[in-house]
Amino acid sequence: FFITFEGGEGAGKSTQIKRLAERLRTKKYDVMVTREPGGSPGAEAVRHVLLSGLAEPFGPKMEALLFAAARSDHVEQVIRPAIERGAVVLCDRFIDSSRVYQGATGGLDPAYVDALQRVAINGMVPNLTLIFDIDPTEGLRRAAERRNAGEVPDRFEKETLAIQQRRREAYLAIAKAEPKRCVVIDASGDLEQVEHAVTAAVFAALDK
Ligand code: C5P
Repeated sequence: FFITFEGGEGAGKSTQIKRLAERLRTKKYDVMVTREPGGSPGAEAVRHVLLSGLAEPFGPKMEALLFAAARSDHVEQVIRPAIERGAVVLCDRFIDSSRVYQGATGGLDPAYVDALQRVAINGMVPNLTLIFDIDPTEGLRRAAERRNAGEVPDRFEKETLAIQQRRREAYLAIAKAEPKRCVVIDASGDLEQVEHAVTAAVFAALDK
């Protein structure tokens, strides 16, 4: 069973993924947690290039192709083998990040981005996608708090409220277009409230 986690800055995805993994393990599920860009040795190398200053001269197509190359490696080396052995795979960001960051708000034709995704995932469509939705003002405030606590920002984190707002809308449009796969999680509450919403959505899908 393949679950992906999506959303903008400071939405709290990684904390909730950890909590969900623990909960699933206590219920004896075989759980694998992974993330994008990255998740396999080859894709982590590409992540380093994409999130550092090395990628500043890349145009949007080159960047999207590299995200897709990393995704393809991650799917074939890590995700597909885990799904085939029956694991629940929890992946922090996947195709919808590309559709939102490189497509809707990255200036690329959405059809071009979708074509790359088809090649990259080769059929590995998520069973469930949780879209963490938060007011970008609050999301950016949380991200700034993390930086004050010592986290080093990546090159995408210098962006404005306006672009975060457009990303939020693009995610909500995906959720609306694909209601069978996507569940919007209200990420504005405290950790326990968000965890409750995540747990409800995941167990509803697993029990189907
Ligand atoms: O928020 P997280 O730590 O998952 O983000 C990794 C970074 O990569 C984010 O700043 C996000 O903006 C960026 N990203 C992107 N396109 C993708 C996936 C991630 O620009 N397809």
